[in-house]
Amino acid sequence: MVRVRIEDLEEYAKKYNIPIMLPDGIAYLTDYIKKNQVKTILEIGSAIGYSAIKMALVDPKIHVTTIERDQERYKLACQNIREFGVEQQITILYADAFDVELAEQYDLIFIDAAKSQYIKFFEKFKKNLKEEGTIISDNLEFHGLVHTKEKIESRNVRQLVRKINAYITFLEENKEFTTTFLPIGDGIGISRKKSQD
Ligand code: SAM
Repeated sequence: MVRVRIEDLEEYAKKYNIPIMLPDGIAYLTDYIKKNQVKTILEIGSAIGYSAIKMALVDPKIHVTTIERDQERYKLACQNIREFGVEQQITILYADAFDVELAEQYDLIFIDAAKSQYIKFFEKFKKNLKEEGTIISDNLEFHGLVHTKEKIESRNVRQLVRKINAYITFLEENKEFTTTFLPIGDGIGISRKKSQD
């Protein structure tokens, strides 16, 4: 029987240029889940299922709902989830996250999808967060480009950097949430609801 290893997913992602979480980013995330006894997770952006599988493997009581809009990646993620035997713990939805309506509330919402849409993801899914829950956003440094002083040649990249900076400002000035920014992996934001009193 051929068994897939986590390293195989990392190698596959590297070979086919699929952006998955960086090693220290995923280590921080799984540690956060463990320390804070997170049990229900909503992930926006599954890719091939790497981070969903890593999060599910933290504890058999964890359930992850993850959304992916790319059909090929969705299929690969389904296959990988089966290979790791975590299909009872992961619900994967093949859809654009903006078309998905969820009634459930989660301990953790992990935003790791189209960087240009982060404000919209945050606004759409914050209602699905439990009162004491956390929203974690990845890629806030965008390979170091967010802080670079050098001129970025590509117009697309410049636009993305502008969008990420707009998201950072949105988080910094947010009246409902307080965000801690950590220079881990590709830059992570940890947002928690401000206390009501
Ligand atoms: N979380 C994954 C991991 O670390 O293993 C990596 C996710 S990858 C950075 C981002 C994924 O989000 C891509 O596969 C992309 O197709 C998906 N995506 C982007 N925008 C989306 C949307 N609006 N709805 C659903 N999926 C989306």
